[in-house]
Amino acid sequence: MNAQIIDGKRIAGEIRGEIRRETESLAERRVKPGLAVVLVGEDPASQVYVRNKAKACEELGFYSEVHRLEAETTQDELLALIARLNGQADINGILVQLPLPKHIAEKAVIDAISVDKDVDGFHPISVGNLLIGDDALQPCTPSGVIELLKRTGNEPSGKHAVVIGRSNIVGKPVSMLLLREHATVTICHSRTPDLAAVVRGADIVVAAVGVPKLVKADWVKPGAVVIDVGVNRLPDGKLCGDVDYEGVSQVASWITPVPGGVGPMTITMLMLNTLKAAKRAHGII
Ligand code: NAP
Repeated sequence: MNAQIIDGKRIAGEIRGEIRRETESLAERRVKPGLAVVLVGEDPASQVYVRNKAKACEELGFYSEVHRLEAETTQDELLALIARLNGQADINGILVQLPLPKHIAEKAVIDAISVDKDVDGFHPISVGNLLIGDDALQPCTPSGVIELLKRTGNEPSGKHAVVIGRSNIVGKPVSMLLLREHATVTICHSRTPDLAAVVRGADIVVAAVGVPKLVKADWVKPGAVVIDVGVNRLPDGKLCGDVDYEGVSQVASWITPVPGGVGPMTITMLMLNTLKAAKRAHGII
């Protein structure tokens, strides 16, 4: 079997088109979605992410503010900025770029973001709503995974999904979303015995591990759908996922490449969350 490629770039483009059209119709009602991105310190990767988020806002006709704070910024100063953004009517979404410098408690910062503006979906109330099944702003990478599945006709309902990884950012929320979509979900982690045997039982495999090419062809049931969230840099500088793409694509029915699979969905889902938050703030949904 030669797997069909789940083209994250194309699907992200499709969703961006939908967002753009909605933003244009909101403009007629004088509503403009607004996103504030806060970066503390000078982590090079974070700087790229923040630039890309601001660029996406510009392309989609959103209002955006980028707050670049010095690495020495105190927690109180950061919390004061968040309080100000919480009260700002032109800001519908607040994203604090992680990781933060060590002297700032990430939890205190996440907890301080208004739930209505929690476009990262990391606030404990958003997480609770996700678990209960309420209409929360959902974390971006996990909701991107669900879109990739649905938009390629791979409905999770009734399928056995095996998620490798249990982080708060990817593994746990993607598992909850798959459950919401009526999949039977198994969550694996570093202490799961015979991981290969568990993965072999999956109709849908989601790998969010951070170990290059961990998932091998003989771990995958023929015809399974494989979503690779991992982004790993190899010694030669090339990017690769958590799945051995060459081998697994001979066995799977659908597979995401790295790069070009899950990656392009994350910022797009952030934009979708900001649009949703803006609509809610104006009583449109
Ligand atoms: P993380 O917080 O390090 O979590 C990794 C998870 O994998 C943990 O639950 C860990 O288990 C498990 N694990 C580690 N080694 C394992 C092994 N050998 N067998 C089975 N499970 C193992 O990472 P993360 O933040 O979830 O990110 C995962 C990957 O996704 C990374 O490569 C990251 O770069 C990528 N990522 C991509 C995007 C995107 O937009 N494309 C977004 C976020 C993350 P324990 O809990 O037992 O330690």
